[in-house]
Amino acid sequence: MLNLLNKFKDPELCRNILRQIEAEVNGQFKFMEVCGTHTVAIFQSGLRSLLPENIIHLSGPGCPVCVTHESEVAAYLELAEKDVIITTFGDLMRVPGPDRKNLKNAQAEGARVKVVYSAFDALKVAMENPQDKVVFLGIGFETTAPTVAATLKIAKEQKINNFYVLSFHKLVPPALKVLLEDQDTEIDGFLLPGHVSTIIGLKPYLFLASEYQMPAVISGFEPLDILQAILLMIRQKNSGQPEVVNNYKRAVADNGNPRARQVMDEVFEITDASWRGIGTIPQSGLGLNEDYEQLDGFKALDITLRDVPPIPGCRCGDVLKGKIRPDECPLFKKACTPASPVGPCMVSTEGSCAAYFKYMV
Ligand code: SF4
Repeated sequence: MLNLLNKFKDPELCRNILRQIEAEVNGQFKFMEVCGTHTVAIFQSGLRSLLPENIIHLSGPGCPVCVTHESEVAAYLELAEKDVIITTFGDLMRVPGPDRKNLKNAQAEGARVKVVYSAFDALKVAMENPQDKVVFLGIGFETTAPTVAATLKIAKEQKINNFYVLSFHKLVPPALKVLLEDQDTEIDGFLLPGHVSTIIGLKPYLFLASEYQMPAVISGFEPLDILQAILLMIRQKNSGQPEVVNNYKRAVADNGNPRARQVMDEVFEITDASWRGIGTIPQSGLGLNEDYEQLDGFKALDITLRDVPPIPGCRCGDVLKGKIRPDECPLFKKACTPASPVGPCMVSTEGSCAAYFKYMV
């Protein structure tokens, strides 16, 4: 396996594809790296400086922390002030909410907040603290939702009555559709997220080519994966024959992971969801279905999302829609740095602003 992976980093193979890209790219080509992991991989591998300048990289809405809406951040910060234990992935600890307060500040002021590495770890916290209400903050996309669903099934089967999930999970394909409907967004192709695709497969993306004539390639994260995907998108654009291609077959089956989707279907229902910078997207989120409403943090703890103004000056929303580069935000590297982030795109390791800061300074 290691040998196989090394092939995807092979300098000579990469140079060959780069030469083909240089020869075949025709004018400007703007492609969106939907997933933050691709953004980081492109920087880390040095591809950004090797690719021709007329290949423009746009960030996309594929960083879970970044797309978590202001109203969702405000809701869990208010919850942290109550008599509950909040369990969360570490990335959310520093995401600024209203008045730039975050979970880390709340913890310093006495809120009970525990960082966990999985939803199952959060369930263990609930089992160890039966007298407390333990709430897991469920963020992420189709990639993380199945394990949260599996944890909820265990909680229900084992009658663990003090465990709740606030589901902020989001679905990637509806967000791509919204971007394509936006007249101000110029995209020539989508580098589709490898991790999400392991769950959903090819089918949910087919509308990109059939309805929007948009080249799209599911890609892995090694340099050769990414270069091949860019070349495939350029060829589709040049030929006028867009299609959705799975170029990550060593990890992604064309039909995804049906078992994972089945577990999600048993626990979640598709709902409207609020995305930072984009707003409400119909049928783009996952809430707990009525069989799991006792474990639904929104219902059991009577939580509603209220209107919260965007963070003043932060252009995360425009970054996530590919309308500006992070370094075009007036606050980038000035008021906003990883040590003192103004917006979530500077917090998460998958955030575009954090990646630009780390690799462009
Ligand atoms: S640099 Fe900071 S303030 Fe600007 S968009 Fe990124 S996170 Fe927001």
